[in-house]
Amino acid sequence: MKILSFDIEDWFHINFDKNFNIESKWDSFDSRLELNTKKILELLSEKGIKATFFCLGWVARKYPHIIREFQKAGHDIGSHSDVHNLVSLMTPEEFNLDLKKSLESIENVIGKKVKMFRAPAFSIGKENLWAFDILKENGIEIDASIFPANHDFGGFPEISFNNPFLLNYNGNKIKEFPVSTMNILTKRIVISGGGFFRFFPYGIIKGHLKRNSYSMTYFHPRDIDSMQPMLDGLSLIRRFKSYYGIKKALSKFKTMLNQFEFMSVSEADKIIDWKSKEIIELT
Ligand SMILES: [Zn+2]
Repeated sequence: MKILSFDIEDWFHINFDKNFNIESKWDSFDSRLELNTKKILELLSEKGIKATFFCLGWVARKYPHIIREFQKAGHDIGSHSDVHNLVSLMTPEEFNLDLKKSLESIENVIGKKVKMFRAPAFSIGKENLWAFDILKENGIEIDASIFPANHDFGGFPEISFNNPFLLNYNGNKIKEFPVSTMNILTKRIVISGGGFFRFFPYGIIKGHLKRNSYSMTYFHPRDIDSMQPMLDGLSLIRRFKSYYGIKKALSKFKTMLNQFEFMSVSEADKIIDWKSKEIIELT
């Protein structure tokens, strides 16, 4: 199963400085979200693909019609936090408030409970496993925040297999759909989304999709937008990660959709025999 998922945020949600994430500041930028999500929805409708959209609560308040379009087309809607603050920089209390605000904003638009979550920049790791308690308390049943390799803001390099699993933390079980990884030489890396998708040649990505029975992709509307402005004040490395390969990304993305069949998380959830899945205890 190859799962197509998107993190729904704007082109400027790439600065992870806590002081940047102030909603009033964002009003000074020209949004490209409407344009890019329209492009994505058209592509998915042409191919008859259902996908999963992890949305910011901020997007639900500011552009509720975008979320309604996802819902109208039959895609899954999950939460990607409220204002894209890293979980690794929040206290449990702050994360709880942020999550509640996000869920309430999205649920107000779609009129039903949100049960899926992905952390901004995969920012859950060993240091903040408490996040899984808070997700469960807030009715999240499916999580897609696990990055099974080293990552700037979290990551689980010790989780070495490429498959959905039942995550057990403090007796709370959550269905986990980790990002898929591949081994290059001795290193385990992620290639199926964001900057990694833009960086690696399509041949490598195609090989990975062909070889593995499970692939979890993650894209952002900005990943396929070569006309987006460049955000000021980013470090060189962040600039590289956010913009490298952007010109070719849309055609690469279209080729991928032409060559492989994708589904949403809820479609995958229905066909997985969860009783046979591995339970991973996080401590
Ligand atoms: Zn994000």
